[in-house]
Amino acid sequence: MRVIGTAGHVDHGKSTLIAALTGTHPDRLKEEREREMTIDLGFGWLTLPGGEEIGIVDVPGHRDFIENMLSGIGGIDAALLIVAADEGVMPQTREHLAILDLLQIEKGIVVLTKTDLIQDAGWLDLVESDVHASLKGTTLQYAPCVRVSARTRQGLDALLSTLDGILQETAPRPDLGRPRLPIDRVFSIAGYGTVVTGTLTDGRLKTGDEVQVLPSRKQGRIRGLQTHKQKEETAQPGSRTAVNISGLAVEEISRGEVVVTPNHYLATRRIDAFFRHLPDASAPLKHGTEVKLFTGTSEAITKLRLLGAESLNPGEKGWVQLELREPVVVVRGDRYILRRPSPSETLGGGIVLDPHPKSRHKRFDEMVLKRFESMLAGSPADLLIQASLALGPASIKDVVSRTQLDAEAASQALDELTAEKRLVFLAGSDLSSGSDSLVMAASAYESLSVKIEELLRQYHKQFPLRRGMPREELKSKLQVSPRLFNVMIKKLSSEGGILEGGTWVAMSGHEIRFDARQQAAVNKLMNQCASNPFSPPTLKEMQTAAGEEVVAALFDLGELAQVSPEVAFRKSDYDVMVGRIRAHIEQQGQISVAEARDLFNTSRKYILPLMEHLDAIGLTVRDGDFRRLKKARA
Ligand code: GDP
Repeated sequence: MRVIGTAGHVDHGKSTLIAALTGTHPDRLKEEREREMTIDLGFGWLTLPGGEEIGIVDVPGHRDFIENMLSGIGGIDAALLIVAADEGVMPQTREHLAILDLLQIEKGIVVLTKTDLIQDAGWLDLVESDVHASLKGTTLQYAPCVRVSARTRQGLDALLSTLDGILQETAPRPDLGRPRLPIDRVFSIAGYGTVVTGTLTDGRLKTGDEVQVLPSRKQGRIRGLQTHKQKEETAQPGSRTAVNISGLAVEEISRGEVVVTPNHYLATRRIDAFFRHLPDASAPLKHGTEVKLFTGTSEAITKLRLLGAESLNPGEKGWVQLELREPVVVVRGDRYILRRPSPSETLGGGIVLDPHPKSRHKRFDEMVLKRFESMLAGSPADLLIQASLALGPASIKDVVSRTQLDAEAASQALDELTAEKRLVFLAGSDLSSGSDSLVMAASAYESLSVKIEELLRQYHKQFPLRRGMPREELKSKLQVSPRLFNVMIKKLSSEGGILEGGTWVAMSGHEIRFDARQQAAVNKLMNQCASNPFSPPTLKEMQTAAGEEVVAALFDLGELAQVSPEVAFRKSDYDVMVGRIRAHIEQQGQISVAEARDLFNTSRKYILPLMEHLDAIGLTVRDGDFRRLKKARA
């Protein structure tokens, strides 16, 4: 599931456009969400022409407009930069654009709206070229521009299909097995209790999970999950998610905190980071300045320590150590923004390099600055992991070529990664296996195996009398390529975690177990068979007596053997019959139906299907009224 966000100058028509696209007005959501969890959670979403549902981040609030936008914009897959055709690019348009660039939002569309107000096509061309000039040098430099009117709905279809197009190019959010949900809203719903919403990243959340809210470290449990209007057992990374938490009151949680699973994250009050001072910032940035840090949905008053420079001029880049008054939760690689509190102004932003530096660095320590430089570039191993996560399961050749590392560096880093078990080869074993190989980051592999095990456990729970889940059903639930599916199943079964039959897959250790009532029916049925081993109840009668699922389980367990749609024997009786028929033919050269019938003192109703079955499995061949042993092939 993908999420988009809007940006643009106030009154340029963001809310109106979203309302036109979704049929829901964001201002109305507030009242609706008070009502019922299944009615509305304040999410806007729209359905693309291809059927995909796209979440829309919309964080209403009365704070500084930019800061409000900031608390929702992290974690989106694409941005709509909205520019009113009658006004063109305005100061906030530029500031929002700078923020999208600092946060490295790489996909976006310029939406020129309110075009119904403009009759002069030349004017629209002028506004559009002005917008393009502002985009130059930013992540959105090549963003397409779509002209619309939310009022007349002109251009909305084109906007949706353009959005569909750019989202196709974005890789799904990786599952790193360490979910975090920066909270953008907290509220309470009658009958449910505390609900928080946000964009989930880096992992999945499941109903029943123990969770922690950071930095407060308060504990709770997930009572329910919802994405858009759907109730879900599991929320996927990258989706707008509402979490109903039990054990925590609304007053105990605030926007800006993060919901995580325990033991994966630590809050911090000191951060090392790379920083870009915006070119149109109003003044040089000095060491020791007090600023406001924005990351995820949180904000904190922060002292800025400049490392390696006395001050940074607008447009300059550098290294900073941030000392926060309030703790936040960040990991290496997270993006952040710094603003001056008053008069408020976006100063710049960058990338977190170290969320837990051990100490206050000396300001001009060459060693520290060198280390920052290599951290910013990323080690070859980091680059490979990042590429693997971005590509999903792929060949080692594709992963390496995405990093643009040379062969030697790549090969060394690969050795390191395989030794540390951070990268998993599902096919092939090293660089030389080229495009035939299949590799996955360990975290992605781990979460796929967990998903497989979860689906199997669910299936066993639902169908305790079946030996396994049909392969095809598992494959379609996982939505992975046939090749990935086959190698995953092979690997997991070779490691002993799962069992693989011809058409089914099961958790190893799964056993078919009858409950007391079923066991009684089985005993009765087996006794019936024992008293007339060669004229047992018909299959239909067995099913009526013990139940279809139980009879199917007896086949799976090898207790019964089926010879036709109507006839089955206990497996032991079947073996006796086959043995005696074989012996008879070996002695006499052949056997007729009547002879076989007399051999077992039974009727044609049983013998005919049995003989046909023996022909079908290739033991015998028919010759007129007789059967002979099929000659073993030379
Ligand atoms: P926001 O502050 O960016 O969310 O802007 P709004 O969506 O609240 O719109 C601001 C004003 O512009 C409202 O009065 C809207 O009715 C008007 N508006 C929005 N979209 C259009 C449009 O496509 N055509 C016209 N004529 N007016 C629009």
